[in-house]
Amino acid sequence: MPIYEYEPVNQEQGCPRCRHGFELIHPAGEPPCAACPDCGRPVRKIISRVGVVIKQADGESGRVIDKIRTYENDGMWSHAAELADSHAAKSKDSGLKERAMDNYKKAGMDPS
Ligand SMILES: [Zn+2]
Repeated sequence: MPIYEYEPVNQEQGCPRCRHGFELIHPAGEPPCAACPDCGRPVRKIISRVGVVIKQADGESGRVIDKIRTYENDGMWSHAAELADSHAAKSKDSGLKERAMDNYKKAGMDPS
């Protein structure tokens, strides 16, 4: 099922849920929702998450690797390791897996 992202038509008037935008899983075949489910104020659909994921598969990977690099730069080795590890499993990237193992070691953790 697609996930749609919404923002309030008037951002000054949104409730805590919709003021900064929110996501809704959308049943196929139904029109996009026109009002916030919490406060009922008018909202508009921004993007369809499904389309974005297909178009930006490489972009997502790049963002994860940027995040890993940020953790490494900050010396947050266990964070970097876990993120690299989970993304390596998802993307089947063996280089990333080695990077995860390296970061586990720097964190003082035993990767096995
Ligand atoms: Zn609202």
